Amino acid sequence: MRVEVAVLGVGGVGAFTLRALARRGVKPLGIEQFVPGHDLGSSHGGTRVYRHAYFEHPDYVPMLLHSSAAFGELQETQDRPLIVRCGTLLLGHKDSKVLTGARQAAEEHNLVVRDLNAGELRARYPQFDLPTDFIGLLEPGGGFVRPEAAIDAAVKDACKHGALLHTRTSVQNIQEDDQGVHLITDRGEIYCKRLIVCAGAWSQKLLPQISTKLQVTRQLQAWFTTPDPTPIQPEQMPTWFLARDSEPALFGIPADPLIPGTPTAKIALHGRTEKADPDNLTRTVSPDERKQFQELAKRWLPRLAATVTEAKVCMYTMTPDENFLVDRAPGMERTWFAAGLSGHGFKLTPALGQVLSDLALDGKSDLAAEFLRLREM
Ligand SMILES: Cc1cc2nc3c(=O)[nH]c(=O)nc-3n(C[C@H](O)[C@H](O)[C@H](O)COP(=O)(O)OP(=O)(O)OC[C@H]3O[C@@H](n4cnc5c(N)ncnc54)[C@H](O)[C@@H]3O)c2cc1C
Repeated sequence: MRVEVAVLGVGGVGAFTLRALARRGVKPLGIEQFVPGHDLGSSHGGTRVYRHAYFEHPDYVPMLLHSSAAFGELQETQDRPLIVRCGTLLLGHKDSKVLTGARQAAEEHNLVVRDLNAGELRARYPQFDLPTDFIGLLEPGGGFVRPEAAIDAAVKDACKHGALLHTRTSVQNIQEDDQGVHLITDRGEIYCKRLIVCAGAWSQKLLPQISTKLQVTRQLQAWFTTPDPTPIQPEQMPTWFLARDSEPALFGIPADPLIPGTPTAKIALHGRTEKADPDNLTRTVSPDERKQFQELAKRWLPRLAATVTEAKVCMYTMTPDENFLVDRAPGMERTWFAAGLSGHGFKLTPALGQVLSDLALDGKSDLAAEFLRLREM
């Protein structure tokens, strides 16, 4: 099979890359080893935190604003919202990088954020039991995005505009020559003029030349119920991110009102360091791991009397500085990639799709992402 542009991996980034290419009139081919929306990579679990006042680096903000607009546009084809704007609350010491970085990004880009002192936090969010020297920064425009629904909508929109999809097809080897790129798959060969690799946790297997910059880690997300579901509804509880001094940050997402049955809110650690191999991953959550989340909920949200009822395994692909990598593959002319989303990438998938499609078709993009190019780390 011969195509103009192939997108390897149709998870979060791949779905939006496929859509951006299709909307530009290219008829791209998406190749996915499972089926879009699967729960074996990094984009499952129903919800992801959405925020713009970005403590990680202020240069993500224009990409986030682009993503917000793209999710909004895609939203119009849906009967259910892709983003719920229940606000995002950052919590920590006044001089923690999370709070100072977010405030700096908000100032640089004129984003609406509100400082909350310890007393205001206690009064407004009695769910939390915080140290007395913790303060908050609330971004009312934040909230959560629904990853599987967004992937489904992006893929459908891409196919409506001419994209093709090969599911249950695993790419095993990539080889470039002067004319294009040969992909060896478990279902035969594909030849494309340009290739965009969006393989998430599998990136270093396909592009070993970037493997020293990536580390896959095993992550957990847990859900809990409460006797009274009111304080975990989006009207009462924003998405939240709690910076702790010497331990991984803790974050949470309120119950998604679209999920039928007993409401469950999410709690997760940001930055577990357990190394993992995506093809050999422990996908079950042990009783001890569940217990850890039960204890975390009891410690930080004691008034909710939470019971952890479910937990799932997921993967982060970390870079040393925790910023993404978006560039042409080293030693290759026709192959581009995004990798190393470092546990904060879903909200940026529309922007990454735009940048990757621009780079592959034009060699440059109006959406500035130079700060994410391959670099010494
Ligand atoms: C527990 C958890 C919580 C998170 N919370 C947040 C959050 O609150 N906010 C946020 O913005 N981000 C969050 N993230 C991060 C975010 O979800 C990820 O950065 C993002 O979803 C990664 O998208 P991706 O496209 O890189 O990877 P994936 O969605 O995993 O896509 C990669 C795809 O490539 C396919 N593929 C790989 N190799 C091959 C091959 N050889 N042949 C064919 N197909 C292949 C895979 O099957 C997969 O579908 C979280 C992640 C986790 C794990």
